Amino acid sequence: MFDAHLHLRDARILPYHARFVKEALEAGVTACIDCASRPEEWNVEVRCALRVATGFGLHPWHVATACPDWLEFLTGALRADPAAIVGEIGLDGIRRPLDGGAAQRAALDAQLALAARLGRPVVLHGARAWGALLRALEPWAARLPAIFLHGVSFSPDLLAHPILRRPNVWFGVGGALLSPGARTLPRLAAAIPLERLLVETDSPDLFPIGGEPLVLGQYHALLNSPANLPLILRALAKCRQMPVDELAGVTSANAEAFLAGR
Ligand SMILES: [Zn+2]
Repeated sequence: MFDAHLHLRDARILPYHARFVKEALEAGVTACIDCASRPEEWNVEVRCALRVATGFGLHPWHVATACPDWLEFLTGALRADPAAIVGEIGLDGIRRPLDGGAAQRAALDAQLALAARLGRPVVLHGARAWGALLRALEPWAARLPAIFLHGVSFSPDLLAHPILRRPNVWFGVGGALLSPGARTLPRLAAAIPLERLLVETDSPDLFPIGGEPLVLGQYHALLNSPANLPLILRALAKCRQMPVDELAGVTSANAEAFLAGR
């Protein structure tokens, strides 16, 4: 199984790294896309038995606190690792910034331009800001090898948007699918074209209802782990009315296709 979105270098996981990897492997997760989403994580090496595809990017939540030369640092990190992709980057409508989002948008534009220049796939965050994210993507969508909207949570009608109909766009469904109140997400998860569908935990965030916590985090939050991926896959398989094993195979192949930009 392929966990298409997580944060292996997150400081909350480092003390439990061995357990994180062991439980993932025991659950059958063998590969992941790891997004190093702030400058503090860009020089952290990852050594583990999982196959790890690496993303470097400045997440919208960290724009306000990033070091002044972050873009130069990011450019250097990407140039030093030709296999690395760009992410997690994007726009966020959950934690409203004081400047109305201007700095987030500027950081996103700069990183989309960088990804297009270097020819790298991008992983995007657009929580409660999907419309604004699509507007920001307009000049770049045709110039990027591959686009992955992670943690999607919008109306299935939006799938008709010209950018989202492009063949180089993938969609990641995560643990929010298990929330008892989820109404729109199950419909969206059933409507995404099968060959564009990815599955993700977003560990250590987004602990899914019914999951097994890696450990209790700061302020007693439950830390998520890729060992919960089978639970999300089972819920997704139910939405799509297809066998779990088949869906696991398809979403793994899709993740490889996204990384290859085809
Ligand atoms: Zn994430």
